[in-house]
Amino acid sequence: MTLHRTPPNASDTPAQRQGQCVAYGCPMWAEVKTGPDWTCCCHAFAPASAWQDITQRLNQRRQLLRTIHRALHVNPAEWKPDVAAGYMGKIGRPDLAPARITLTHLARDRFTGQTVEVQIERDERDHPQLWVARLLRTLVRECAEGAPEPAKPVATAAVPMPTAVRDLIPNFGGDGR
Ligand SMILES: [Zn+2]
Repeated sequence: MTLHRTPPNASDTPAQRQGQCVAYGCPMWAEVKTGPDWTCCCHAFAPASAWQDITQRLNQRRQLLRTIHRALHVNPAEWKPDVAAGYMGKIGRPDLAPARITLTHLARDRFTGQTVEVQIERDERDHPQLWVARLLRTLVRECAEGAPEPAKPVATAAVPMPTAVRDLIPNFGGDGR
């Protein structure tokens, strides 16, 4: 059995390229290893019955994919949020322009030991990695989970915080460090 799930009427030439998701016709780069195969973040945890729909949704969002791919490799020194905002409008996704966002995450209160919800405000225009993270979340929500597009502007999102961002969180213990 293969995980390629190649449609019966597909041509003989393999559609998959090196480093690409194993799902037939998927335009995404592979990043999750599931069994012997590498899949993209959208196909990785989806049931086989949903694979073709996911591939179709991804192919409908190729401009967004290209944007994410480029943004993942952006040099922070060359990050131009205004240009990014203009481009997102041009490809019909003004909801995904870099904006001010509220991030919610769980943290352990260092005094009470309890898990508390911490909200921080960040401006994606100052933190391109936060913007890319939101683009990726949106892509997974729309392609893997089938959420309608355009999603309402995301003001609040619960995300695991990358290490670099965790460093930015002020000490709410207030010991002045
Ligand atoms: Zn894929």
